[in-house]
Amino acid sequence: MRVKLAAGNWKMNGTRAALAEVDTLVAEHGAASVEVLLCPPATLLGAMAERIGEAQIAVGGQTCHPEASGAHTGDISAEMLADAGATYVILGHSERRADHGESNDMVRAQARAALAAGLKCVICVGETEAERDAANTLDIISGQLAGSIPDLSTGESLVVAYEPVWAIGTGRTPTLDQIGEVHDYIRAELERRFGTGVGRSVRLLYGGSVKPSNAADIFAVSNVDGALVGGASLKAADFGGIIDALE
Ligand code: PGA
Repeated sequence: MRVKLAAGNWKMNGTRAALAEVDTLVAEHGAASVEVLLCPPATLLGAMAERIGEAQIAVGGQTCHPEASGAHTGDISAEMLADAGATYVILGHSERRADHGESNDMVRAQARAALAAGLKCVICVGETEAERDAANTLDIISGQLAGSIPDLSTGESLVVAYEPVWAIGTGRTPTLDQIGEVHDYIRAELERRFGTGVGRSVRLLYGGSVKPSNAADIFAVSNVDGALVGGASLKAADFGGIIDALE
């Protein structure tokens, strides 16, 4: 049985004032029947983890460096995220791939480091609009899965997020059939590579313009175990509506 997961990606948004939203989430969803994860900017990680206290909301980073420490100005290691209270890290988000040139090889190295530090990884894959128009979606996803995911002996520490690049922050979403096609494909690829036991225990999230009004329909699609939510995770009322749809 896969535990459903509502994950919020705050991206480069939020100062300490935004932690008031976390107080609301804790009050209203701090004992949800699904797993809830918030990934704030690194500057807020420690304060957010403290603010959440004993409530059932996990915190995570948005990327990490593959090395544990060293001369890498501006970077943060998986150990540091864990030390700040993180139990998850998002890796290979399309914005990291585009803005920072993070390749599949880099994401795989980051994931190895994160797993070694005891973090669970949310590895993102997804096609651009041009790739979808050229009917290359499944080939792109296949290459990203093969290249970005390290070898695994257990699936519980891995989450794969399918995020079509053209659906992120645009208000546009694929059809439910398109989401189902890609999620079924990812499940099959994971089972082929890791075996059915491990492959079936990996959770698959859909991400890209998820909001309270479309969440229930998306969550009803086969092999959708939750969502990775950007814009709508910034306000407790919106993210709470998505958590409600998943419960
Ligand atoms: P969005 O972002 O929900 O704002 O579309 C999703 C993401 O990039 O994870």
